[in-house]
Amino acid sequence: MNIFLNFQLFINNASLIFPRTLVNAIYAYSLYCIGFVICLGTLGESSVGPLLFWITLGLYLHGVVTYYRVIKIGPGFTSSHSNLLRLTEDNQAPDFLINNGTQELHICKKCDLYKPPRAHHCSSCNACVLKMDHHCPWFALCIGSQNYKLFIQFLLMSLIFAVWSCAISGWYVWRFIAEESYTDEYMDLNVIINGVIALSMSVSLAVFDGVEMYFLLKGMTTIEYYEKSDFNRDVDVFSGSMMSSKEEEDSLKWRNIFDTGSVRDNWEVVMGTTLWEWLLPVQRSTLGDIHRDEGLSFPVNKENLKIMRRNEQRLRHNNQHSDNVRSRLLGQLSSRSD
Ligand SMILES: [Zn+2]
Ligand SMILES: [Zn+2]
Repeated sequence: MNIFLNFQLFINNASLIFPRTLVNAIYAYSLYCIGFVICLGTLGESSVGPLLFWITLGLYLHGVVTYYRVIKIGPGFTSSHSNLLRLTEDNQAPDFLINNGTQELHICKKCDLYKPPRAHHCSSCNACVLKMDHHCPWFALCIGSQNYKLFIQFLLMSLIFAVWSCAISGWYVWRFIAEESYTDEYMDLNVIINGVIALSMSVSLAVFDGVEMYFLLKGMTTIEYYEKSDFNRDVDVFSGSMMSSKEEEDSLKWRNIFDTGSVRDNWEVVMGTTLWEWLLPVQRSTLGDIHRDEGLSFPVNKENLKIMRRNEQRLRHNNQHSDNVRSRLLGQLSSRSD
């Protein structure tokens, strides 16, 4: 039994330490190759070398500090809010949850706490995460209400650092060939390895950043995107069985009740309103409402909420087809915070 527990502990620690060490190692290796080998080594004598070194060091520090802060601040757990504690069966839920008006109140059976809208239970973190986006293996932690802004900044900064690293490595290889340096010296293998890593990181981060930016500007989390896809797929099946018109099918499709309707507003709700907040690894300034700041309550798009409620009624009163898909759609409409 002890051996089993020790093994379990080892696996838990490894899954926490390995990805975090790997991210820091990739960043440090890039700083060494670009900053020290190329900027201070190959270009050390030129006037541009030290300038490029300071830019590289600045990008490195921004990335590492942001990464550290995503972990340090954490996603925000329901367990940190004593007012979400469910004491007895008939215990009244806090007012701000009742007033939120978005959906029925839910209780997490594992945490025994009220679950605000957009909160989900993460089995890896073993807690309910506020405005859960996803559990990120690169941080070995959830991304949620409190660290989402810093997570987005880290993604954007990592893309800039990877492209910067790629460009300088490319320049190094080009110069080596153009000046025929290969006749009397070897190319630094570290720079080549780092260049390959930077190129693959640039491509994968460009795709991932693009997807994450789309979610952010649409005011939805990664989980909500999958919920929307599942729901719309079921609407297709349901409408197909009813042989309804295209307009009728489209009117039943998912509406995001947390989308403010403005790309800029969706950006500012997460990233803050000032340039300093967008650039520096600081937390977003207050939204003017303690429950919104804490990720317990959200402004609701009334137009979209009205459509979703109307659709719920339409489905509920559709006696023509009491099939599985209809009950699944109703289930998704009434349990959107599970
Ligand atoms: Zn939970
Ligand atoms: Zn998690």
